Amino acid sequence: MKKPVFTDFGDRFVLDFVNTVQYFRGKTTDMIDSPSAVIAWLSFMTENGKIASVQYQKLVADSSWDLPLLGEFRQRLRSFLEDRSLKKIKQFSPYLTDIMTGSPLTFTMRADPETMNLHLVPVPQRGSVSGLLALLSYDAMEMITTDALERVKKCENPTCLAYFINNSGKRKWCSMETCGNRRKSFRHYQRYRRSS
Ligand SMILES: [Zn+2]
Repeated sequence: MKKPVFTDFGDRFVLDFVNTVQYFRGKTTDMIDSPSAVIAWLSFMTENGKIASVQYQKLVADSSWDLPLLGEFRQRLRSFLEDRSLKKIKQFSPYLTDIMTGSPLTFTMRADPETMNLHLVPVPQRGSVSGLLALLSYDAMEMITTDALERVKKCENPTCLAYFINNSGKRKWCSMETCGNRRKSFRHYQRYRRSS
């Protein structure tokens, strides 16, 4: 991999957001460090079905991006995921509620193109960072209040920063292409060195 790329293996929108910080060539890299990078990431999320175009349109309609607020949300969420104690939930929950108070959501119903099952799509009332944080807070609350939270797992590659939902109970790596194969070839190399 020549440079870090956006990923969508987080299984939820909010975890894909957590994964916008990556460890690459010895450095922690923020993938959304400019307004144009945030918009490129939102567009990537839309292409991959993580957000609906109605949500994307609303978010990009406002062009003022207060990036430190996004960084703070990501940092607080990462720190919460590291220690999911009741104490941490009690600290984190009012923060999420405050965000939603500043930018309420309305809901629309959409049919899944494959199954035709209807599902709720939250649409932020405001664009830009306020709207994005409201969507992320909603998804975080949903994740925390369901059994999804106990399946949230950090990639087993010690230098990788990625989180995902371990639905099978057996998944070790964020993705086989990046971390899985790298760890496998590393162990293979160690075995080779020990035996020679
Ligand atoms: Zn990984």
